[in-house]
Amino acid sequence: MTDECIFCKIGRGELDADVVHKTDDVVAFRDIDPKAPVHVLVIPRRHIASVNDLGADDADLVGALYMAAQRVAAEEGVADSGYRLVMNVGDDGGQAVHHIHLHLLGGRALAWPPG
Ligand code: AMP
Repeated sequence: MTDECIFCKIGRGELDADVVHKTDDVVAFRDIDPKAPVHVLVIPRRHIASVNDLGADDADLVGALYMAAQRVAAEEGVADSGYRLVMNVGDDGGQAVHHIHLHLLGGRALAWPPG
């Protein structure tokens, strides 16, 4: 954890967020600037800056992010219509917040390839 990381603060409950799901390890909350009708971010509570910083011991945690996203997609009503799970990495990947987060985007048809 870091004192300054905004997603660490959300994970600790120190910064308000519209939380839709949480477990001991992960928190899912609505993106503050949604790019689709459903736009939820799923984060680990533990600070991991990017996919580049994942270790072999983090495999279960990464799985937990996806299982949380699957659950939120069902609860948000987009499981059948479809959705996109995206984890941006680094500058070219468009990562602005350096605490890994899985974007769950749905509720409209999403273009491919992304810009
Ligand atoms: P990325 O560009 O992949 O790092 O995505 C960061 C995302 O975090 C963006 O979609 C932001 O809108 C979102 N975001 C930043 N601050 C907050 C916040 N305090 N609460 C919810 N979402 C946030």
